[in-house]
Amino acid sequence: MKNGTATGPGTDSTARLRSELDSARRILIFTGAGISTESGIPDFRSPGGVWDRNQPILFDDFLRSEAMRRESWRRKRETDRSIGQAAPNRGHRAIAELMRRDSASVVVTQNVDGLHQASGVEEEQLVELHGNATYAACCDCGLRHELEDIFREFDRDETLPTCRGCDSPYVKSATISFGQPMPVEAMRRAEAAARACDLAIAIGSSLVVYPAADVPLMAKQHGARYAILNREPTPQDGYADLVVHGEIGAVLGDAVGID
Ligand code: NAD
Ligand code: ZN
Repeated sequence: MKNGTATGPGTDSTARLRSELDSARRILIFTGAGISTESGIPDFRSPGGVWDRNQPILFDDFLRSEAMRRESWRRKRETDRSIGQAAPNRGHRAIAELMRRDSASVVVTQNVDGLHQASGVEEEQLVELHGNATYAACCDCGLRHELEDIFREFDRDETLPTCRGCDSPYVKSATISFGQPMPVEAMRRAEAAARACDLAIAIGSSLVVYPAADVPLMAKQHGARYAILNREPTPQDGYADLVVHGEIGAVLGDAVGID
């Protein structure tokens, strides 16, 4: 199945990507942190990225220790401050336009920043594999909690949130932590989209975080064409029908034909 052809940025690769988009009827767009760097949100693995600064807090440690929960809310406060009000960029807008053109297409994202929704992608066309960092949820009963309410207390004297529904002390950013089980319904929807699409495009992902990175490969195994758009090579390049090495906003914006 090794058939990847890598092309650098330029009109040729943009034209090839456009032609893939034009011939597809159901597209699965698989996104990673790379699509949001142009909105000012650092990715994980680039220099200066999140992992250069902190080891992740494992899910079990969050449950086990109040000190860890406090540390996790401190970090959350810091990242939310530094990211501020991030807005969707040209890459997000190009994807939203593709979703508008074809209601059978789907975005499967590893991102937790909520920028696909902010760019106009409807919830029915969006699968969040790693949750969402723009709100919190109770790990016991699932009830949603707003960050604003949590930070109002936390900023005063680092009071930790408890669930207003079930009194649980395990209220956490609604993301999937390391060591936390994958969300069953999101995985099911992602797999269904992978089986149904005729083109999968992985955009801005290092394609090393599993099981998420299985999603575009699964589409390829079910007969879809597979394109990868990323600044640097990925371990899946050899499986792709088209590999474009370039900047996401410029390449995708031109390929889709939006400003
Ligand atoms: P990653 O950091 O491993 O990979 C991002 C890839 O995008 C890298 O290969 C990088 O070279 C490339 N890239 C960055 N900016 C680019 C640009 N403008 N144009 C082209 N390529 C660009 O991210 P991942 O594969 O998503 O996996 C990391 C995990 O990090 C995911 O599980 C995700 O949940 C989490 N995460 C999410 C966010 C977010 O929500 N924005 C941010 C950081 C991490
Ligand atoms: Zn609860």
